[in-house]
Amino acid sequence: MHAVKFIPIKAAGTRLRDFSGSSVYDKSSRPLLDLRISVTDRCNLRCTYCMPREIFDKNHIYLPRKELLSLEEIVRVAAVFVRLGVRKIRITGGEPLLRRGIENLIEKLAKLKTPEGGSVEIAMTSNGVLLSNKARALKDAGLARITVSLDAINDAIFQRMSDSDVQVKTILDGIATAQQLGFETIKVNMVVKRGVNESEILPMARYFRNTGVILRFIEYMDVGSSNGWVMDDVVPAQQIVDLISRHYPLVSKAAGFSGEVAKRWAYVDGGGEIGVIASVTQVFCHTCTRIRLSTDGKLYTCLFAEHSNADLRALLRQGQTDQAISEAIADCWQDRGDRYSELRNEASALSRNKIEMSYIGG
Ligand code: SAM
Ligand code: SF4
Ligand code: SF4
Repeated sequence: MHAVKFIPIKAAGTRLRDFSGSSVYDKSSRPLLDLRISVTDRCNLRCTYCMPREIFDKNHIYLPRKELLSLEEIVRVAAVFVRLGVRKIRITGGEPLLRRGIENLIEKLAKLKTPEGGSVEIAMTSNGVLLSNKARALKDAGLARITVSLDAINDAIFQRMSDSDVQVKTILDGIATAQQLGFETIKVNMVVKRGVNESEILPMARYFRNTGVILRFIEYMDVGSSNGWVMDDVVPAQQIVDLISRHYPLVSKAAGFSGEVAKRWAYVDGGGEIGVIASVTQVFCHTCTRIRLSTDGKLYTCLFAEHSNADLRALLRQGQTDQAISEAIADCWQDRGDRYSELRNEASALSRNKIEMSYIGG
């Protein structure tokens, strides 16, 4: 067992979602509320379910620097999204802590205001490998919420999942540092793959109980086109809840806000809460309010997209106005009919040539 000291923090309370500012709705009346920005297509891990080393090897061609949206371009586009109704921005990748100047980006995003003068929720998803060193700068820049991905407590299993020689303690130290610095919310995402890290469900639950960290189990998804996903590799979220519940009884909690993707469960003994994201077995397309901006400024209205819906970088670099960019985003969203997870079982859906998650933003 790794000896990392956690300082308990207050579990996240229920937050009501403010829909009032949203000015664009898609074909299924879903408002545009969340923006995920991939700030790099590179990563220091090679999780087999995301960037399998056979594909993402030394011959893989990553985006050259000039093709990436600059930090200034990201901030400008983000401000346009906020005026259109976005209330939450998640910085992701690839591994966002690899992007130079990431804290400067956070600082600028944290200052964005909604048209009503409210603040925008800024969050980040990171693999945590560099978190110990970066946590203070991120906190000082205004980041209050971080999700760290960690698929096992056992080193050998973690290293198999991440195809790396990184030690789990490195990531746990990063989480502990974030706690010591007083991050408002810290979540841990664990993707569960049958026969690979299934045995870590209970050890992970045990480790994060009573720490204030919210552990969330994610069903392994068929994102991208390179991870060789098959349904048999998915451990249904309900099985995960049943397993944990047999050892540590759980009671269902109300959603934190409408459209929350994780189902929340609290330990009956007061040990905190967990979440399960049943993205394969219990689809939630009908409440999906997320849009994604790729590393090079392309817009995607679904995680499982085959094509981008607009090229915002082209508009930016052609010198288009904010108004023109706003109209392009609104057109995209209003035209949106995405519901891939609902269609997943159809052969046509499974044969899609989907964009990789590290580029589109997880
Ligand atoms: N590198 C960062 C990280 O791992 O947290 C951010 C990017 S990563 C693509 C974002 C999230 O997507 C991570 O929590 C990761 O576990 C999850 N993810 C990646 N591939 C997945 C898959 N095939 N199924 C389910 N979740 C996946
Ligand atoms: Fe990297 Fe995150 Fe993908 Fe793992 S899940 S390979 S850490 S981008
Ligand atoms: Fe949203 Fe697409 Fe996922 Fe459905 S499949 S929840 S539309 S990202």
